[in-house]
Amino acid sequence: MSPPATISAVKGFRDVLPDEAGRWRVLEDAAERVFSRYGFEEVRPPVVERTELFARSLGDTTDVVEKEMYSFVDRDGTSLTLRPEATASVVRAYIEAGLAQREPAARLYYRGPMFRRERPQRGRYRQFHQIGAEIFGRDDALADAELLVMLTRYLAAVGARETRLEVNSVGDARCRPVYRERLRDFGKRELAALCPDCHRRLDRNPLRILDCKVEGCRAVVARAPVMLDSLCDACRAHLDEVRALLAQEAVPYTMNARLVRGLDYYCRTAFEVVAAGLGAQNAVGGGGRYDGLVAALGGPDVPGLGFALGLERLAIVAPAEAAAPGPHAVVLPLEARAVGPAFALATRLRDEGLAIGLEPAGRSLKALLRAADRRRARLAVIVGEEELRVGRATVRDLARHEDRPQALPLDAAAPELAQQMRTLLGSGS
Ligand code: AMP
Repeated sequence: MSPPATISAVKGFRDVLPDEAGRWRVLEDAAERVFSRYGFEEVRPPVVERTELFARSLGDTTDVVEKEMYSFVDRDGTSLTLRPEATASVVRAYIEAGLAQREPAARLYYRGPMFRRERPQRGRYRQFHQIGAEIFGRDDALADAELLVMLTRYLAAVGARETRLEVNSVGDARCRPVYRERLRDFGKRELAALCPDCHRRLDRNPLRILDCKVEGCRAVVARAPVMLDSLCDACRAHLDEVRALLAQEAVPYTMNARLVRGLDYYCRTAFEVVAAGLGAQNAVGGGGRYDGLVAALGGPDVPGLGFALGLERLAIVAPAEAAAPGPHAVVLPLEARAVGPAFALATRLRDEGLAIGLEPAGRSLKALLRAADRRRARLAVIVGEEELRVGRATVRDLARHEDRPQALPLDAAAPELAQQMRTLLGSGS
């Protein structure tokens, strides 16, 4: 009989193996540390929502809603969707939990998986992970500036290399419609050079021609009028104030008049973090202001702003820490009789908070030491016949290749054992 076939992961879905997971943990811990300084608290919305939440918040002319959502009809006939992003969920939670009334100026951050049925390639997956932050109840430029300073501090904290912050204003409900018509007129004049998708966009949502990836369209778009030249006085003043506050804090950024966010609900400040060395998928994250969104989802007229960073891409641009440290020690039973005492030793040390590996018996000392080395352990704790006889384990410093004869009493209480182990670790480095 042939052996059973292996089962692979689904295309676009990947495993985050221990090395990478360790790196992600560093990124997540830093987010918690930095964001909390700015008053953010964590929220964990579910990954499944009603489809209409995204249709209404993202706008049904966006790529995400048009063709990238994982939607299915539940048994009771409800259309559900695996979230393609989390801002809509956070807004829903903000409204549903009554925060809009109780704590209108809530600051919430989240992390977790998002799902989009895009064409997989390096840096683009169908399940990916974001860390994001949202500020509610603030329409002043100070909130935009705070958010951007926090973002740059976070990127610095994780050691992100060669990233650049790009900023733009996409106007508001007053001035964007005027610009949209200017852009549509321009596009109609250049119709022959635009792709079929952009023809459709011109009718339904002309702003989206600005982030078309097709070469011919990009050449046309490079000559298109920009929103910055059509801003109304209020949007202009808002942008000027954000920029003055960023300048005050010496935040480096570039203005990018062609920056638009893919999602419909953005207004005024829009920004992106782009990185060299990421290839085509060069955006590490982005965000902006979405003043109409809370109201569009049935809540009160509360402004909001936020950003989302992609963990997969962040992990590429933030250099790996030194290889993840191995256990403090690995306990090595040399023979079957030593298994019980070795297990007891390991358990007591683990109970005291030390990271302890434990190998099975039945191999030579040399093989066991090799195994301990492979695990990048600092110390090997050897329990063999002689150690059982005198009641003390031998400790070997694996970096220095030297033994501390009979260093750990096998029958000591856990705290004393841990104390001695810590002394050995301290003197071993
Ligand atoms: P967006 O929600 O589209 O503004 O995306 C914000 C960030 O999430 C991007 O800059 C990427 O870092 C990340 N991201 C978005 N889509 C994907 C994807 N399909 N695969 C990996 N990362 C993604």
